[in-house]
Amino acid sequence: MRPAAQDASDNKEKEPRRMTQDDVKQASVGVIGLGAMGFGMAATLAQAGFAVTGYDLDPAKASAAQEAGFAFAKEPEAALATATHIVFSLPTAQDVAGIVEAHANAIGRHAAGRVVVIDTSTSEPDVSRALAARLDTLGHGFLDAPVSGGPAGAANGQLTMMIGGDEGDLALARPVVEAMAAKILHVGPSGAGNVAKLVNNLLVAAHMLTTREALSLAAGAGVDPQSVLRVLNAATGRSALSEVHFPNWVMSGRFDSGFSMGLMRKDVRLAGEMADAFDVDLPLCNQVRTLWAESAERLSDRDDFTRMGDYQAAFPTARKEKA
Ligand code: NAD
Repeated sequence: MRPAAQDASDNKEKEPRRMTQDDVKQASVGVIGLGAMGFGMAATLAQAGFAVTGYDLDPAKASAAQEAGFAFAKEPEAALATATHIVFSLPTAQDVAGIVEAHANAIGRHAAGRVVVIDTSTSEPDVSRALAARLDTLGHGFLDAPVSGGPAGAANGQLTMMIGGDEGDLALARPVVEAMAAKILHVGPSGAGNVAKLVNNLLVAAHMLTTREALSLAAGAGVDPQSVLRVLNAATGRSALSEVHFPNWVMSGRFDSGFSMGLMRKDVRLAGEMADAFDVDLPLCNQVRTLWAESAERLSDRDDFTRMGDYQAAFPTARKEKA
């Protein structure tokens, strides 16, 4: 039998070392993309004590960054070269790959040791796997770490993060990840976080439509949709959409959740392409795909995605069927 002391030291080696406040002061985080999500993440990290340098194509973000307590870089290299951890929050997988490819040699140039890239963008599993392999050849790590929780979750460090990638890299990234997320789910190897996120958002897209139709039915049957929504949320028809999105952004008429139609259409399209690639038959979700794709005819990419829940605005397809 091995002595207890030996077991204890083994455990110590396996457990990732948690950062102390001193370590946080030594760590520096580059945040690429300061939009609805990335800005809140950068501000949250700065508030947690990390030295943060943000970069965005839009130079107008500089003054808000200063007010939120983090530096703004005029070029991506300035945010990538000194960082011990790098967070991406960009619209598409191609945006992330473009920056990594163009600036691969800058990543961690002035940092001692392995730098971990934490890509919180809703991205594509194959692109994440390719980027993880590419960065590994340079001695760095890459986690696909898409998030749920919206701009409010980003701004208060309460995101849910679903992670694909190497466990050792997650251990290195954990202090930064913990500052941003209240729920951290390691799903599996590289790409698995994006698979989970696309599956989640396909369901969000479906719930938006089914809840919208349910409220249309209530209105059509002469009962106040607000009253029926209260019932759904006390009964078994509820979802995050009925509990959060409909009361806050649809029924209120505000339509300002901070998540755009363009980004949600991207997620529905990617989930559909994933089903096609793996030959998975999704009869109901195919209709969801069609409805979200057709929405481009009347809702712009910049509209808020909660517009799709507007039960008072009939779908063009529904009108056609009636005619
Ligand atoms: P956004 O459009 O608000 O912000 C994107 C930012 O990236 C913009 O400020 C833009 O100027 C910047 N940008 C674009 N290309 C760039 C480049 N090459 N270099 C530097 N900056 C660049 O988008 P968002 O809502 O913050 O979403 C970011 C990512 O997070 C997306 O992948 C989205 O699908 C995902 N996401 C969004 C939400 C949400 O509620 N908004 C929730 C979960 C996940």
